[in-house]
Amino acid sequence: MTTTTNVHGTMLRPGDDGYDETRKVWNAAIDHRPAVIARCSSPADVAAALEYGQVNGLEIGVRGGGHNYGGAAVPEDGLMIDLRGLDQVVVDPATRRARCGGGATQAQLDAAAQAHGLAVTGGTISHTGVGGLTLGGGMGWLTRAHGLTIDNLVSAEIVLPDGRCVRACADEHPDLLWAVKGGGGNFGVVTEFELQLHPVGPMVHLGILLWDAEHAGEGLRVARDVANGLPRDAGAIIVALNAPPAPFIPQEHHFALCVGLFVVGLSSADAHATLLAPARAVPPMVDFTTELPYCALQQLLDEAAPYGAAHAYNRALYLDDLTDAAIDVLAERLPRKASPMSLIPIFSLGGAFADVPDDATAFGGRRSARFAVNMDAIGPDADTMAADRQWVQELWTALLPHAGGPGSYVNFMTEYEQDRVRAAYGTAKYDRLAAIKAVYDPDNVLHRNANIVPMR
Ligand SMILES: Cc1cc2nc3c(=O)[nH]c(=O)nc-3n(C[C@H](O)[C@H](O)[C@H](O)COP(=O)(O)OP(=O)(O)OC[C@H]3O[C@@H](n4cnc5c(N)ncnc54)[C@H](O)[C@@H]3O)c2cc1C
Repeated sequence: MTTTTNVHGTMLRPGDDGYDETRKVWNAAIDHRPAVIARCSSPADVAAALEYGQVNGLEIGVRGGGHNYGGAAVPEDGLMIDLRGLDQVVVDPATRRARCGGGATQAQLDAAAQAHGLAVTGGTISHTGVGGLTLGGGMGWLTRAHGLTIDNLVSAEIVLPDGRCVRACADEHPDLLWAVKGGGGNFGVVTEFELQLHPVGPMVHLGILLWDAEHAGEGLRVARDVANGLPRDAGAIIVALNAPPAPFIPQEHHFALCVGLFVVGLSSADAHATLLAPARAVPPMVDFTTELPYCALQQLLDEAAPYGAAHAYNRALYLDDLTDAAIDVLAERLPRKASPMSLIPIFSLGGAFADVPDDATAFGGRRSARFAVNMDAIGPDADTMAADRQWVQELWTALLPHAGGPGSYVNFMTEYEQDRVRAAYGTAKYDRLAAIKAVYDPDNVLHRNANIVPMR
């Protein structure tokens, strides 16, 4: 192998100190061994790494937070471009904007923004990378109040596969800015995201109601009704799971199969209490409310999704409504899962998410969808995960007739089959993305993602 370029960050190869630790990703099922890991800490490093990979014929993966279920960041025998050295977050409280490094985690962005009482929509697990999360869309507790993360993306600094470093914004490369708002890591390596922030917290209100599996149908219906009636300044996730052994759950309910409703209120405690009250029409087995700092909310679920500790697989669908028929499918199939770690989080959309026209961003999903259903097989070992992988696939198939199509959020896809990627974007958006891909990455160098094949 020959190298023609100089990556200033460290290059790691098999056998080097730190190689094994650095190639690990969130999903323990991924055990890929790249030929080279380029640890980058500047756009110049990224440009050099991209050139190195292409000159040496290596498949290239880009690593932000390492949360991609399928291990897209870690090519076997290829080059992993590790962005963790690009993790600076600079907040300007006057303009309420953050400049966030392409390899920063959600925790780093949240901490920097909350130092000024600000936040932007992000994921619900704090060790998720802002990079992959944003490029696919980015949904979390603030989606109804402030839209997806991409709806707050003002500009992006991007290193293109040909080595040029460009800023995509309203005035420069607007097509590229549009494409990275949902089109994934297809077009270049983003070294900096400029994000619009909003006043949030610092204290927010959380309510968690859980219903036992015997009352799963009733629980899901009342959770749906509450979610559908929420104002914009509240976010919700409906979930089917085994109750975690968390301090706020009485010990006798630890690991009990159940369904739940998490409601986050961004205004007063009284307003939050009013939102939750109707959900108690079906008496919950766990009823917990608290006030907590926004950053603590963002870390609340971290222990339930520990890094590198479990094998995972997922599939997802959008629902225009969580109909009684869809709830029947969920309630009937929930008990068939084998692993207590497997779960079905259902993100409540609407509000600011629905304000954005479908063609304003490249987001893979329709803005009319009210729920994004993520079906997660998670197990301590490969066998348990394999059983629940089948559970997920069967559940996905059973839910499909209620979904209005197989398109799903690209950030909740372990496998990127071309038909499902195309379905996620729809033909018009996919074709527009393919034309932009042909301009910025005509050789499809960056293909380890929900791949947009360059238009010929
Ligand atoms: C436990 C868990 C919880 C999650 N919760 C949420 C949630 O609440 N909301 C939500 O919306 N999603 C959620 N996700 C999905 C998550 O958004 C995606 O997995 C996302 O791809 C993770 O980004 P990452 O940078 O951590 O991953 P990585 O595996 O590092 O990157 C994934 C892909 O993104 C691209 N990429 C990453 N950074 C860059 C960059 N700077 N420039 C160019 N390309 C880049 C690359 O193609 C890379 O292969 C969750 C995932 C997990 C595992």
